[in-house]
Amino acid sequence: MSKNSTCFGPFSSWMEERAKTIRRPEDIPLSIAPLRKERDFFEHPRKEDLDFAVTPYYLSLIEEGDEDPIRRQCIPSIEERRVLPWENADPLQDLSHSPVARLVHRYKDRTLLMVTDECAVYCRHCFRRHFSGGRRGGIGTSELSKVTEYLKNHSELSELLLSGGDPLTLSDGKLQRILEEVRKARPGIVIRLASRLPVVLPARINKELTLMLRSFSPVYFVTQFNHPREITEKSAAAAASLVEAGIPVLNQAVLLRGVNDNTAVLGELFRRLVALRVFPYYLLQGDLAAGTSHFRVPLSRGLEIVSELRGNLSGLAMPVYALDLPGGGGKVPLSENYLLGKREGVSPRGGSEKMEFFRFTSVEGGEFEYPEEKVNN
Ligand SMILES: *Cc1c(COP(=O)(O)O)cnc(C)c1O
Ligand code: SF4
Repeated sequence: MSKNSTCFGPFSSWMEERAKTIRRPEDIPLSIAPLRKERDFFEHPRKEDLDFAVTPYYLSLIEEGDEDPIRRQCIPSIEERRVLPWENADPLQDLSHSPVARLVHRYKDRTLLMVTDECAVYCRHCFRRHFSGGRRGGIGTSELSKVTEYLKNHSELSELLLSGGDPLTLSDGKLQRILEEVRKARPGIVIRLASRLPVVLPARINKELTLMLRSFSPVYFVTQFNHPREITEKSAAAAASLVEAGIPVLNQAVLLRGVNDNTAVLGELFRRLVALRVFPYYLLQGDLAAGTSHFRVPLSRGLEIVSELRGNLSGLAMPVYALDLPGGGGKVPLSENYLLGKREGVSPRGGSEKMEFFRFTSVEGGEFEYPEEKVNN
């Protein structure tokens, strides 16, 4: 067996697929002819628009219907030009939490590195649109050495998130160099790689990649499935090959109007992810990114959906519903409140100890109490 056929086969196949990326409206297949609101977007392009790019594979998942959940995520519409006064391009203030170019350090023990601004598909709901598709490309050698210097000087950091853009749009060689430098600077740091490619270009997850990632263990993989129709034979195989290489896979779904703002859809998504051994980690409330209001689900509706899910899903399948606070406050869980309050009393067994009773509602709506001895001090 020649060396080239093993190393080159799968490598060239994802590169070939990537080369077929659709970047112009006239290259969208006729079967999914642009709708009026999509044509309106394409007809008068603006400099500040998020790039358009979609893989033929992801496009092939679109079915009939204007509000197709796949279509909504990848074909831009004029609705993106509606920018509300409380929205902006950098809603989480990445830039003001950036000690070194491309690094966002918002939490004490973990930091996020935007290794490239390229994506295989530009998700129309993207909240990092101040960076994604910005044509800066992959991180340069001197930028990377500033980052590794920072990692060395900040021993409180126990985790590095590699994000972007999509880190897996980089070649294996480039990605390997980044991982090597990070490992050299911080041998034990946990690496969390965030990529949507299992969902939008599953061919990228080939043997070479999974073996390489495995060699830099501990590496966690976080992806973004938003709808059960994104789970196909190919994306399922991509997830399986990561898991089987010993790389835990987590999912961060984004709650999106007209895509998955529905208990049945999300329930099916999370159950099927668990069956793929992909852990539903977060369900994220939409950030206040400029031009994404048509995707946002009211928070009150989000809470309702999550509370319906809670009664019907195994704990393994239930993500944390979270909001990244605008202005750089970081992520907070948005759970429905089961703790109603507390009352004071005495021991139920007739004793005289002062007690506190924490009152809860159950998922089904019943009331329950959790007693605790009152500490006097
Ligand atoms: C989301 C995020 C993290 C990771 O947060 P977790 O709650 O650990 O998943 C880290 N840094 C930044 C800047 C983030 O936005
Ligand atoms: S892959 Fe991530 S960074 Fe890229 S457009 Fe989608 S959400 Fe944004």
